[in-house]
Amino acid sequence: MKKQQNKPFNISDNNFEQCVKCTVCTVYCPVVQVNPDYPGPKQAGPDGERLRLKDPNFFDEEALKLCLNCKRCEVACPSGVKIGDVIQAARIKYSRKRPKLRDSIMANTDLVGTVASAFAPIVNTTVALKPVRQIMDKVLKIDHHRIFPKYSGEKFETWYRKHAAAQQQGFSKYVSYFHGCYVNYNFPQLGKDLVKIMNAAGYGVDLLEKEKCCGVALISNGLIKQATKQARQNVRALRKSILQNGAPVVSTSSTCTFTIRDEYPHLLGVKNDDVRDQTELATRFLFRLIDSGELKLVFKKDYTTRVAYHTPCHMEKLGWSIYSTSLLRMIPGLKLVQLESQCCGIAGTYGFKKENYETAQGVGQPLFTQIENTDVDYIVTDCETCKWQIEMSTSGKVKNPISILAEALDVEATQKLWQK
Ligand code: SF4
Ligand code: SF4
Repeated sequence: MKKQQNKPFNISDNNFEQCVKCTVCTVYCPVVQVNPDYPGPKQAGPDGERLRLKDPNFFDEEALKLCLNCKRCEVACPSGVKIGDVIQAARIKYSRKRPKLRDSIMANTDLVGTVASAFAPIVNTTVALKPVRQIMDKVLKIDHHRIFPKYSGEKFETWYRKHAAAQQQGFSKYVSYFHGCYVNYNFPQLGKDLVKIMNAAGYGVDLLEKEKCCGVALISNGLIKQATKQARQNVRALRKSILQNGAPVVSTSSTCTFTIRDEYPHLLGVKNDDVRDQTELATRFLFRLIDSGELKLVFKKDYTTRVAYHTPCHMEKLGWSIYSTSLLRMIPGLKLVQLESQCCGIAGTYGFKKENYETAQGVGQPLFTQIENTDVDYIVTDCETCKWQIEMSTSGKVKNPISILAEALDVEATQKLWQK
């Protein structure tokens, strides 16, 4: 079989020649507002690309590393320049530095998650200790303010095999669930919530034949070969589910979804055109079913809560927060406040690095202030790393919209609607 070739650096794909130098992107870049060392999207993106094409010595690794890859510049650009992609592609193309030990550890979420889950109580206690955090700060340059999310003693995949797989037989319709590392190693409850909702809606839930981490942390930390290998493996698994088994793929993470749909072809050159449309966020999948009249969800009469929705950067780029908020608005006892869309500053592993801590907190500050001034029970968001950052930096408690829906859902009443 012919080996698939990477083609991630197609100049016209990123449209950098279409830049009209309006500088709108610079106004919307959250890093520019807080870090004077960052040249900004226009200079790091299209302007820099012109120079780099003439002479690769114009590649300024230290400056480009400050980009969060939030894509807010792309959303703002009137000319459709894929500025974030131009910057990330330049890092992939020109960087000659090997990733640091710290970056390799933080990027290998499957390996670290597997080991840490096996010793969860010890790992959770140890990494939260102040002296250990000080050592990690000194030795690995992981900022001592950061606390890693707790690992679960039982992986989601293990729970699924033991307690859910058998019950998925006999449905007439199926989805496959791309659970991602966070659900598998840290917070299986979110995956359980998704299975509960989909089963109540008349869908069986399968897991992909082989799921690897989506690779977002590998890409941002420069482990491109490994990211590409994992992307190919994931796309093969998506093809098997979607094209062979007829089961669309849903995820509960906006970042995993965005990476699989857009970063695979744009940054890694891994084609996914045949499966991209049927790989989406679970809230969008559910909303579309309800909107087309194929599904009705019934909610508990006594459920009440007040929530504020935070739009993660990749949801802003996808344009999909409307699906999550519309679903939440269907819950009769729920009061929803929509927070102004602002970056939280964490950008996955970016905000854990000592050299980025101040920038990350500066970027997130307007959001933190909004949250502290909003009187709600929970902050709701579709991104797990936004959750970590908000919980580390504010007094807010954060939930995924799927968990809120699962809490509010009247399972029996919903099932009766399609079982009769
Ligand atoms: S991707 Fe985000 S951080 Fe990077 S240049 Fe664009 S707006 Fe700025
Ligand atoms: S917003 Fe777009 S067109 Fe305007 S300067 Fe930035 S990249 Fe160029």
